[in-house]
Amino acid sequence: MINSEYLNNLNNAQKEAVLYLDGPLLIVAGAGSGKTKVLTSRIAHIINEKKAFPNQILSVTFTNKAAKEMQNRVSSILNSEAIGLSWLGTFHSICAKLLRKHAPAAGLTSNFTIIDTDDQVRLIKNICKAENIDIKQLAPKFILSIIDRWKNKGFHPDEVVINKNDIFERTIRPLYKIYQQKLLDLNACDFGDLILHVVKILEKNHDIRNIYSNNFKYILVDEYQDTNYIQSRWLNLLSEKHKNLCCVGDDDQSIYSWRGAEIKNFLEFDQVYKNSKVIRLEENYRSSQNILSVASNLIANNQNRVGKTLKTTMEEGDLVKLNCFKNGKDEAIGVSDEIEKKLKKKYSFNNIAILVRAIFQTREFEERFLKIGLPYRILGGTKFYERAEIKDCVAYLRLIHQPKDDLAFDRIVNNPKRAIGESTIKLIHEFSKTNAVSLEIASKKLIEENLIKPKTKIGLSSFLFLMDKWRNDINIKKINHVKLLQLVLDESGYSSMLKNKKDLENENRLENIKELLSAMKDFDNLENFLEHVALATSVDQDWDGEKVNMMTMHGSKGLEFDVVFLPGWEEGLFPHQKSIEEKGQNGLEEERRLAYVGITRAKKKALISFAMNRFYQGNWIDSMASRFIEELPEKFLEKNSFFDDSKDNEEDFEFNQDFEIEEGTRSPGWIRYQKRIK
Ligand code: ATP
Ligand code: MG
Repeated sequence: MINSEYLNNLNNAQKEAVLYLDGPLLIVAGAGSGKTKVLTSRIAHIINEKKAFPNQILSVTFTNKAAKEMQNRVSSILNSEAIGLSWLGTFHSICAKLLRKHAPAAGLTSNFTIIDTDDQVRLIKNICKAENIDIKQLAPKFILSIIDRWKNKGFHPDEVVINKNDIFERTIRPLYKIYQQKLLDLNACDFGDLILHVVKILEKNHDIRNIYSNNFKYILVDEYQDTNYIQSRWLNLLSEKHKNLCCVGDDDQSIYSWRGAEIKNFLEFDQVYKNSKVIRLEENYRSSQNILSVASNLIANNQNRVGKTLKTTMEEGDLVKLNCFKNGKDEAIGVSDEIEKKLKKKYSFNNIAILVRAIFQTREFEERFLKIGLPYRILGGTKFYERAEIKDCVAYLRLIHQPKDDLAFDRIVNNPKRAIGESTIKLIHEFSKTNAVSLEIASKKLIEENLIKPKTKIGLSSFLFLMDKWRNDINIKKINHVKLLQLVLDESGYSSMLKNKKDLENENRLENIKELLSAMKDFDNLENFLEHVALATSVDQDWDGEKVNMMTMHGSKGLEFDVVFLPGWEEGLFPHQKSIEEKGQNGLEEERRLAYVGITRAKKKALISFAMNRFYQGNWIDSMASRFIEELPEKFLEKNSFFDDSKDNEEDFEFNQDFEIEEGTRSPGWIRYQKRIK
């Protein structure tokens, strides 16, 4: 029996949004107004009303975690365990799936590798070397950011339109072309390619486009304000036939313009999709009144916004806390004390989050939490899959799966050591380049032609032999991928390398590998596992157990917690220095939207703080309260004793020895803060 309660649980505007099925629909609404809830209910409704089969619904979410959650919620609404929403995922994961199906149309084979930033940087470095470009003058990361920008705009190397006066763009354009060719040679893609290739395939091949545009009767997109050109183009192509595209978003939460997101897509929806309908949701179900008032007042300082009303259905709740600390360490102590002494009794750790502007800011909290034994998780720090030992394991698996994966080959050919030196590696590379073959084939040929030194030959031959053996193990003997990695670790000597040198670091590495082996069990086969590794986003990992969450404000998009700490509200840190230096208000307005996202993650309690001194990049700096603090409406705030002028705080100002301050005076940061407030 289907549970049709899903309609009764919605307010009128939400219900209208769920029931309006025919034609393009844009839902514009502030944080916590149930946009994501509407999307989930809509999917359930479409299936319930038999308007489409689950595999005819394309739903795009911001993270894989959000996709999983949506899948579960739809299943629970429909009282059914397995609703096969096979087209529910992030832009990247859905495009990867499409590209695997149509890889040849992009010059790839379906087992192509998806490379990460490290691999990208290595590739660009190699290209720069070959092209005599000094990477001290032109940093690989910068080159990649420009290439990524072009990809987000939908430019293939031959289509790039450059500003002729821009020397950087002029230099980078030819590199982009070489880079793309190199990726094809490697049978690999970077993240930007996943969508770029698919869009080009859909544009060029009417038959392929028709298959999908006919199939997708309904398309739903969450966080639409953060889509870039290529993503909106992709949606446009896929919705061509049925035009049932429903996008939800909040212009006040647009925080990815640095990644090419174009708020224009959102604001001009009605021009691109004729006869589209707009529905606004104005009730907030997440945050208490005080929290919402603080957030709304803050965002009202942005000039460039549509502007909308948002009323809360919740009670007034606690005042938003504003805490000033004398330094960063004290801030960490203050936060941990609050959690230990007050919050622990009432809230589960999973419902407490610390949201920072930049991920390095978590370090101070980590140190403190470790010291007092407070459990925490960092979402989006060094990703599990970015650790060296994990990347090594994955490289073995990648090369087994895809023999052309030269980046993986490079990483493991002499890891563990097989006496294969620099000169041999160089020889293999040269042979591969001249004969246009992969590094693995090049190595085999060099051995056949007796061009490898005898001492090296032993190590290289055994590596090549093992590669073939492992491929045989998985493809012919059909052992599973978990067993495969165990064999690889034993037979390659990787495990003994770690075991032979017993130290804490190696023990940690072995632990991590164990964790990897157990994580692999969740996947049906090697291909699915490798896809997961390539696409895992920072908020997707480690949600087990009871732990306080730490992540960036960017990463917190769409999530909610009972209690949210927002530390480090200081000029230069937040708003970020780059946005302060930028001409015009755009950068600052984006930072303000980020603040709005941060505050509106909180359901019951929000605690904003800043420190007057911070150890930053090796120096004690005298910091100044963020301009955003002055924009917070006083009447919804509760300030800590540092703000109390009648109280003598002098003794609290025993600054760090390195920090000179005239006796009896307050920190300059404090004085400037006071001026700002008055
Ligand atoms: P964000 O902009 O942050 O992504 P959102 O608009 O997507 O927020 P949701 O996450 O869908 O908002 O909803 C916020 C919270 O309010 C959720 O806990 C959700 O379950 C709850 N909620 C939404 N609509 C209703 C409703 N009609 N009745 C009760 N609770 C609701
Ligand atoms: Mg949402």
